[in-house]
Amino acid sequence: MFHPDDVPFSSPEIPEVFTVFRKKVETSVTVRTSLEITKCSENQMPFLDIKVPTLHDLGFEAFEAHPKTAFPFQGGETSALERLQNYLFESKKVGFYKLTRNGLIGTDYSSKFSAWLANGSLSARTIFWEMKRFEQEHVKNESTYWLVFVLIWRDYFKYISLKHQNNIFKIGGILQKEYEWKTNKYGIQQWIDGNTKEPFVNANMIELKKTGWMSNRGRQNVASYFAKDMLMDWRIGAAYFESMLIDYDVHSNYGNWMYISGVGNDPRNRKFNITLQAKNYDANGAYQKLWLQNSLFE
Ligand SMILES: Cc1cc2nc3c(=O)[nH]c(=O)nc-3n(C[C@H](O)[C@H](O)[C@H](O)COP(=O)(O)OP(=O)(O)OC[C@H]3O[C@@H](n4cnc5c(N)ncnc54)[C@H](O)[C@@H]3O)c2cc1C
Repeated sequence: MFHPDDVPFSSPEIPEVFTVFRKKVETSVTVRTSLEITKCSENQMPFLDIKVPTLHDLGFEAFEAHPKTAFPFQGGETSALERLQNYLFESKKVGFYKLTRNGLIGTDYSSKFSAWLANGSLSARTIFWEMKRFEQEHVKNESTYWLVFVLIWRDYFKYISLKHQNNIFKIGGILQKEYEWKTNKYGIQQWIDGNTKEPFVNANMIELKKTGWMSNRGRQNVASYFAKDMLMDWRIGAAYFESMLIDYDVHSNYGNWMYISGVGNDPRNRKFNITLQAKNYDANGAYQKLWLQNSLFE
């Protein structure tokens, strides 16, 4: 969202605390407008008639999206722009984003922009300027602020990667912390299969396995459980996410994993109380029921 030439920090100066970064960019950087798309003639684009290979051509089997997926959308820019229009101007759900963003079930508790952002079908700048239009035409409130706020987190992790380079993949993370980490294969498999003693973790892990999607609340809980309860090498959890998430993004994934595992940018190094989280965010157990019931037979 923020062009590197406009950010008022050189790479080594990127603050280690998000709030410091956010406050500075919010007050001093103007987000550039998206580039206009100009139509090209055929001789400028000789590859225009190339057919996009199918999954089969690439050696994979075609698959149907899981009927209960929270991400039933198609890939590509057309679907991305449709979702942007829908979430902002048609359903206007963005006007309630701050109240719904910790949800777990369905398409609309959060924007679902991440997969398109991750593969470049949608630009954070396009979202930013459409948000400004929404605020002018409809409503400007805490929710509209918060959607831009989380997009600043996305940028922040990119700048943290630029600053710390390969350290984001090292066991001690960017803090170079020395903890005792476990790597036992049985424990890892229990987590992956949704067979831990925490039903809330299990439901989220099963959702990920079946759909390639998990909510932000779920990701925080399963990652905290893996790193801080099971004391497993956080990089194994991050690598599993990398292999499964349809919105996998190197900076957001490793940045968030480090943050939650106590080797990144969380100055408070918190641990989630999973039972309490389940009580607060899945009070009637609907989410756990959705993924735990009959999960063995689907
Ligand atoms: C352990 C862990 C791993 C994660 N791995 C990824 C990943 O590989 N790819 C990815 O895109 N996001 C990742 N996230 C961040 C976040 O969970 C997802 O971006 C979000 O859930 C995607 O849903 P959404 O598009 O509906 O988000 P919304 O809540 O609608 O947010 C809008 C956009 O803001 C950005 N955003 C929101 N929260 C974060 C955050 N915490 N960090 C960085 N950007 C954020 C995303 O681009 C998102 O699409 C991870 C979070 C955790 C805790």
